[in-house]
Amino acid sequence: MSRKRQGRRSKGKVYLVGAGPGDPGLATLRAVEVLKEADVIVFDQLVGRELLAVAPHGAEMIDAGKYASHHKLQQDEINEVLAERALAGNTVVRLKGGDPYLFGRGGEEAEFLVEKGVSVETVPGVTSALAVPAVAGIPVTHRDFSSAVTVVTGHDSPTKKGGAVDWAKIARLDSTIVVLMGMKNLSDIARKLVSEGKPSTTPVAIIERGTRTDQVVTVGDLGNIAAKARRAGAKAPAIIVIGEVVRMRGRLGGRQ
Ligand code: SAH
Repeated sequence: MSRKRQGRRSKGKVYLVGAGPGDPGLATLRAVEVLKEADVIVFDQLVGRELLAVAPHGAEMIDAGKYASHHKLQQDEINEVLAERALAGNTVVRLKGGDPYLFGRGGEEAEFLVEKGVSVETVPGVTSALAVPAVAGIPVTHRDFSSAVTVVTGHDSPTKKGGAVDWAKIARLDSTIVVLMGMKNLSDIARKLVSEGKPSTTPVAIIERGTRTDQVVTVGDLGNIAAKARRAGAKAPAIIVIGEVVRMRGRLGGRQ
């Protein structure tokens, strides 16, 4: 902790901060401001390393994906580290990819900290769910194609009994579908949506490492996307966009 701060404060705080989708230019001014004040930064795998460079020299940097003995910190360990450092009087930044409350387990962390009496401030981030398609030239809604967007986790296979997502219901929505964490289950998801009534010609885009300089886009339709992704060697982290809006790609001058 800096000497200046030691004098004026006894109680620390946790900033729950969204780092944006990858391109460091898409972090918010507020995110940069609190990073510059941090004594401790606990960051996730998806956070761009460039952003971490604004942290003060001497700040403790904790990689939640690769801790001490190179094991991944479990969620309860992350919670404990955040609370312990804050209660010791530190300004702690918990830095997460995208927005902290979209599939980031940010809600659980904030809840735990508040229960422990730690003060928490949330700094929202630009979520990959919207920004990654946008940078690739795909507007998630468009007057001519879609008036709604559904953001869903693809973590559980649709073949799993009691999975978190009702894919039959999602297939019936007249909505662009943005799937996060869906690469492992891509073929099951595509097959399920078709078996529940979506045309197999529905366009699909897979955007890997979106907004970053090494972004890769693979396009197809529900019928062929799994094979195309396999051929292209597409892998996580990637966003899957399903819907007619994918046809806009190439017309808006996005990063191809
Ligand atoms: N809170 C984050 C999402 C966390 S879930 C947010 O708001 O963006 C992690 C998933 O997000 C990844 O599996 C992937 O599907 C998606 N993702 C995050 N950043 C991405 C990027 N730059 N390119 C492609 N997908 C990304």
